[in-house]
Amino acid sequence: MIDRAFNFYSGPAVLPTPVLVQARDEILSFNGCGTSIMEISHRSDEFIAVLQSAEERLRSLLQVPGSYRVLFLQGGASLQFSMVPMNFLGGGTADYVVTGTWSEKASVLATGFGTINITRSRGYRSSIPDPGELRFTQNARYVHYASNETIDGVEFPYDLDGEGTPVVCDASSNILSRPIDIEKYSLIYAGAQKNIGPSGVTVVIVRDEFLETSRGKQKGVLSYASFADNASMPNTPNTWGIYIIDLVCAWLQEQGGVEGIAKINENKAKLLYAAIDNSDGFYTGTAEPAARSRMNVTFRLPSEELDSNFCRDAAAKGLVGLKGHRSVGGIRASIYNAFPIEGVERLLEHMHDFASKNR
Ligand code: PMP
Repeated sequence: MIDRAFNFYSGPAVLPTPVLVQARDEILSFNGCGTSIMEISHRSDEFIAVLQSAEERLRSLLQVPGSYRVLFLQGGASLQFSMVPMNFLGGGTADYVVTGTWSEKASVLATGFGTINITRSRGYRSSIPDPGELRFTQNARYVHYASNETIDGVEFPYDLDGEGTPVVCDASSNILSRPIDIEKYSLIYAGAQKNIGPSGVTVVIVRDEFLETSRGKQKGVLSYASFADNASMPNTPNTWGIYIIDLVCAWLQEQGGVEGIAKINENKAKLLYAAIDNSDGFYTGTAEPAARSRMNVTFRLPSEELDSNFCRDAAAKGLVGLKGHRSVGGIRASIYNAFPIEGVERLLEHMHDFASKNR
């Protein structure tokens, strides 16, 4: 067995080892068909079955009601920053809740398609609004937010209630990590490369009624309706990516689904935040406690030099990908669904050792 590193990268990120093993075993001949899934038509029976299975598993894991469509797009979550306003804004007004880097980017890319009203969290990049604190513009076409800010390490611990305004959510870095109430949302999108699969696929879950309001606004691959009308295939989809998504979802079902993995995720994050809080100030968490992400644990050491040495020494022990995003520095431990508890334990040991040697 190859020795696998403990992979803390924020995305593309760790995939479950059994998924990689199965993909390896099937790479020359998928299901005995004599070719890889990558090498056959997206219109073949084999691929259609994979696509349908991936959709069914996602529906079942997230309890998606029949009145929603589950779509597989490309262009990353970034394309959604533009596609959402192009399809749903139409010169109207939208509210953007900005809690960190990605929701900010989404708000910037929506300008030009209508009026954008921005609400920033109190401690921008370190906090989350309290439930009920937000006020929405009357007749806003939608309110957009990011349920987890991957760079800043802040996460909404609740499903935002639009109080009648359709809610659009960028859930790229926490989808499938805990149960959510889909009915609270009009549209959820997520780039796959953190909790769902490899990069190159974006999952979109959209309420039929909301989707219909976009009909005719865009064409081809810029139109959600064309993905919905053509079973996610107005053009050639990322067949390999969707195949891996199906395998990841099957793995997740074996872990007890999102309820099961949520408990494991909660525990992993709790252990890391406790180590930060009990370090006598050697490690400082960057998010306010109530806004702490269970997926991306962000913290700092007393100097940038120590941040850098911490990552260097961790990598020598097989703990890779801990450097914070280049825009904020510090340390970021991304501990998505597929990240094993053993890796968290190894990081705790490293934190303890490093603090005792460098205090
Ligand atoms: N939103 C969030 C919350 C993200 O974490 C990322 C990427 N890490 C993006 C959007 C952009 O995703 P992509 O690179 O797939 O366009």
